[in-house]
Amino acid sequence: MAVAIDWRAEAGKLAFRDKAFIGGKFMDAADGKTFECTSPVDGKVLAKVAACDKEDVDRAVKAARAAFNAGKWSDAAPKARKRTLQKFADLIAKHADELALLETLDMGKPITFAKNVDVNAVVETVRWYAEAVDKIYDEIAPTPKDSLAMITREPLGVVAAVVPWNFPLLMAAWKFAPALAAGNSVILKPAEQSPLSALRAAELAAEAGIPEGVFNVVPGFGETAGQALGRHMDVDAIAFTGSTEVGKFFLRYSGESNMKYVSLECGGKTPNIVFADSANLDAAAVGAASGIFFNSGQVCVASSRLLVEETIHDAFVEKVKQMAAGFTPGDPLDPKTMMGSMVDKGQLDRVMGYIEKGKKGGAALTLGGNQVRQNSGGYYIEPTIFDKVANDMTIAQEEIFGPVLSTITFKDTDEAVKIANDTIYGLQACLWTNNLTKAHSVARRLRAGTVNINNTDGGGIEVPFGGYKQSGFGRDKSLHAFDKYTQLKTTYIKLG
Ligand code: NAP
Ligand code: MG
Repeated sequence: MAVAIDWRAEAGKLAFRDKAFIGGKFMDAADGKTFECTSPVDGKVLAKVAACDKEDVDRAVKAARAAFNAGKWSDAAPKARKRTLQKFADLIAKHADELALLETLDMGKPITFAKNVDVNAVVETVRWYAEAVDKIYDEIAPTPKDSLAMITREPLGVVAAVVPWNFPLLMAAWKFAPALAAGNSVILKPAEQSPLSALRAAELAAEAGIPEGVFNVVPGFGETAGQALGRHMDVDAIAFTGSTEVGKFFLRYSGESNMKYVSLECGGKTPNIVFADSANLDAAAVGAASGIFFNSGQVCVASSRLLVEETIHDAFVEKVKQMAAGFTPGDPLDPKTMMGSMVDKGQLDRVMGYIEKGKKGGAALTLGGNQVRQNSGGYYIEPTIFDKVANDMTIAQEEIFGPVLSTITFKDTDEAVKIANDTIYGLQACLWTNNLTKAHSVARRLRAGTVNINNTDGGGIEVPFGGYKQSGFGRDKSLHAFDKYTQLKTTYIKLG
């Protein structure tokens, strides 16, 4: 029988990696500066982490470029890269408990999800791209007989990944796995709130045999380390996940420096449309609740706008309230906990501010609305549901990134589609119906990168993920991710 893990005891034994990882070595920031990495589980300081700035970024770029030019990784046979990445995935799997614990301590998500969702998906992501490396073929163009034209994919060179804190290692893996698989050198800047798992992963990458300089991690702040990467003249591409506001900064950095490729996975305000003819309203209620309360709503695709057909409104909202009870905030280190804390005090204040705006703006608070578990020293908010929300209210337009659901009523399909699309975002949309024709026709009208029908969480590593409109451009996951990390070369040969 499996013995239950005492996560608190395990946490006491952890040794944190707190330095930058550059050129295959851990090192302090050039100016010796550090920042405090705090745990939102209880508000305590976990580690003092190297605060990288321009000089450190420059070192990392030099190491990454030198490694790329040396060709040990970039020119390695695809099957050699495959084997090394498979080993990397194996090492992540071997250290799954430790990595899950780092995620939970660093950003407050329940340990059960950190392990079964985050780390599991990281392993799957690295394995999937490892497997893809030696199965993708290049192209020959249909030229006249006296010519031969080859279209080949080449790695870009030095790719920088700048990522957020909500799924710290998974958002990073969606970038570094395909970027490394394609032969690039990578520099990863984790969010200041959650640098620990990335630093441990870098060490595991080295252990797996990824050559020095090919995978670097520069912890630090966005305005310093992030901006230095964005403006560096020798970084070939930025793969960014984060807010729309910062995504626009990266477009500017690129335009003002070397025109580096920029791909952006930004914010969302997912509409979740529940039609009265949905086959299973209980399942829809489960989907509605988990779609907004999972990870305390700190999810870019969180289904934060619940659009309910008028005729079922009262009964359905009641069901969602009942399902919300399953997400009572608890100790993230307890395996039974389904909802943990917000990532930090700033995020707690931001979300509480939106709850106030909802009340003042005239929406009806029907569930929650409070900070809870203050005695823990952490930053917990209970599941919160607003009813009678109008789509032009602030809480229906702005990304809250917290456990706050806005319920909006609609009369017919046209009105539902109009409300769903009335947003600057377009990352995901969901709908529930038992009518096949309606499902497909509404899906076509929704302006979003992913449309989930009769679910709110569809999609593994095999399908592309990314946004329409101000949710960004470029796609993570699937083979389409390689478009962001490779460039096409045409070689045209005259045969006659
Ligand atoms: P954020 O503030 O935009 O930060 C994202 C990353 O950018 C962090 O590493 C951050 O560093 C860095 N950064 C911040 N300001 C910068 C600047 N001036 N120049 C260069 N880099 C800068 O986002 P967040 O608060 O971490 O995460 C929440 C946001 O991410 C939400 O909007 C959410 O929708 C989005 N998100 C999108 C997806 C997706 O796939 N579409 C997935 C997850 C999250 P610091 O840590 O120092 O701030
Ligand atoms: Mg932290």
